[in-house]
Amino acid sequence: MPDSYVMKIQSFVQGRWSEGNGSAVELFHAVTGEKVGEVSSHGLDFEASLKHARNVGGPKLRRMTFHERARMLKSLGKFLTERKEELYKVSYATGATRNDSWLDIDGGIGTLFAYASKGQKELPDETFHVEGEPENLSKSGSFMGRHICVPLEGAAIHINAFNFPCWGMLEKLSPTLLAGVPAIVKPASPTCFLAERLVRLIVESKILPEGVLQIVCGNIANLLNHVTCQDVVTFTGSAATAAKLRIHPAILASSVRLNVETDSLNCAILGPDATPGTEEFSLFIKEVAREMTVKAGQKCTAIRRTIVPNSLCEAVLNALKQELGAIKLGDPAIEGVKMGPLVSRNQVLEVKDCVNRLRQNGEAVWGDPDRFDALGDHSERGAYFPAVLLYCDEPLRKNVFHEIEAFGPVSTVMPYSALEEAVEIAKRGQGSLVGSLFTADERVARQVVFGIGAYHGRLLLVDRECARESTGHGSPLPHLIHGGPGRAGGGEELGGIRSVLRYMQRIALQGSPSRLTSLCHEWMKNAQQRSDGIHPFRKTFDELRIGESLTTHRRTITEADVVNFAGISGDHFYAHTDELAAQESIFKRRVAHGYFILSAAAGLFVDPAKGPVLANYGLEHLRFTRPVYIGDTIQARLTCKQKTRKEKREGEDPQGVVAWDVEVTNQNAETVATYTVLTLVKCSTT
Ligand code: NAP
Repeated sequence: MPDSYVMKIQSFVQGRWSEGNGSAVELFHAVTGEKVGEVSSHGLDFEASLKHARNVGGPKLRRMTFHERARMLKSLGKFLTERKEELYKVSYATGATRNDSWLDIDGGIGTLFAYASKGQKELPDETFHVEGEPENLSKSGSFMGRHICVPLEGAAIHINAFNFPCWGMLEKLSPTLLAGVPAIVKPASPTCFLAERLVRLIVESKILPEGVLQIVCGNIANLLNHVTCQDVVTFTGSAATAAKLRIHPAILASSVRLNVETDSLNCAILGPDATPGTEEFSLFIKEVAREMTVKAGQKCTAIRRTIVPNSLCEAVLNALKQELGAIKLGDPAIEGVKMGPLVSRNQVLEVKDCVNRLRQNGEAVWGDPDRFDALGDHSERGAYFPAVLLYCDEPLRKNVFHEIEAFGPVSTVMPYSALEEAVEIAKRGQGSLVGSLFTADERVARQVVFGIGAYHGRLLLVDRECARESTGHGSPLPHLIHGGPGRAGGGEELGGIRSVLRYMQRIALQGSPSRLTSLCHEWMKNAQQRSDGIHPFRKTFDELRIGESLTTHRRTITEADVVNFAGISGDHFYAHTDELAAQESIFKRRVAHGYFILSAAAGLFVDPAKGPVLANYGLEHLRFTRPVYIGDTIQARLTCKQKTRKEKREGEDPQGVVAWDVEVTNQNAETVATYTVLTLVKCSTT
């Protein structure tokens, strides 16, 4: 811990570092027990901070497109990666081992990269997002509907728990900034010195525009008095604090979006097939022991309830004792130490109290909070707590094991006789972030997933096939939702682009197809089409306009076409080649191959000479809506639907992806096929 941290922890508000006055909260080193600093936010002007976010940061972010914001996140990720060792040094004072810090620091930086990549690939190079397909609201199609999402014009206030000061901040910040919303972060006091150091690095980087990120270290209670309908509050922490926020008058009065993630009593279930000697059994033992001891069990996703078949209980307890016995507790700086202290002496008292209450209803089979050894010079003063394994013989009668969360290295083994009972026990948690199941049996997996699914936000299914690459029970991933119903808070974080949309307002736009096309920058059916007589494939990316269209000449499909296509493709499906079978089919006579219609349509609309179109990039949303018979005459209409400029790569001409709407019709003007063709098109400037 650098000397500068034996001092007042500051807040970064309204573009400058400030410290509060008045009474301060003392902060302690988890390993040595020494005081490392103090924190107070007393006297800070929270209303002005909110205004700063709304009036200075928000407009700057909203002027940027998703792709620009994504590039900003990527630059920040790179900047922090180069300086992460500074964070590792500070993280030691929270009691984290090198591996714990990796989860927090590298895991947090990883979410910046994940959202940078998702923003580039899954969102447009626009300041708003068009969601879903157009909805036709009228008989002739002159009145349509479309959903779009725009960034909220307020600030996101992220209130975090003490256990992941870096990941907790960055996993919320990434989708918030990608959405175009500035943030005010409030870290939990016990580990705010690490969150403060992270924000110092971010500020130093000058990558984020002014006003986009502020941090309040210390109490923020009255900041919430100033929230409005454009702000979002997210909370990670205890159910008790969440309950206060849910009834906060300002949050209620303005229907402020509040996303809550609280404690949960997550379970791991061992399938009856996973007997000792199977891979699933050893994977289960390793995962339970790992989840108990990583971050000294101070993980919202940790396995608190270990549910095992009655007949395997003894084997599980013995194997777990052996596994836990090999995990050294002590100063994380000492080689070989696998579990560090809890975050503070206060946490030791809290966890001890929880364990004592659980012990009154069950049996402690491993670990004693009053008698244990910790390696290192400060074992008396550090916030050490041993791994404790409990056993509850009647989990359906003793509810206390489904209610008390000991937020430390503590888990309870619970026996079940039939799988229905395991499902019932898991559901007693009243809503969890995650549950995991270890089985190689399809029937067991089906019964458990559909039995406990409604009570969980995430389910990990472990078998030998995925074991090598599984990310494990406890790791929330940026691509998948993190959250859970009921006791887990009922909120959702991460989950890819879903979490970006939580910081945006969804609007149902209604109007004419032409108006919606021009607003959404995406051509929709029935909107005006235009043509200046020049083939669209002769135009560069910049010259092309949305709605620009080409109606081709016609072509009559002959028997020779069908026979030749069958020969070239090798597709001799009876509906194309066997007249008798075709007569008995739904078509009643031979039809042309759908893929031939696609090829013939390309032959109609492609301009063959060398030009700005570089390549065919793919095809989407293909539907064959009517059969094409021998003798039918087809025609195609190609319309420029959407343009997306690509990020320039070294050695590559500037280019973009053009999506073309294609409609193929027959001689009766009936649609026979629709799809979207994607092409790579060169830009005008090199
Ligand atoms: P906590 O005491 O509820 O504190 C959480 C955060 O809320 C801290 O930043 C705290 O600030 C702040 N806070 C406290 N009172 C507040 C108030 N009246 N108004 C606004 N903010 C307030 O929880 P914790 O002890 O830090 O974290 C441990 C708990 O969090 C465990 O129960 C764990 O299960 C849960 N958790 C859940 C998840 C999840 O994703 N579901 C993740 C991690 C942890 P101060 O520190 O300054 O008081």
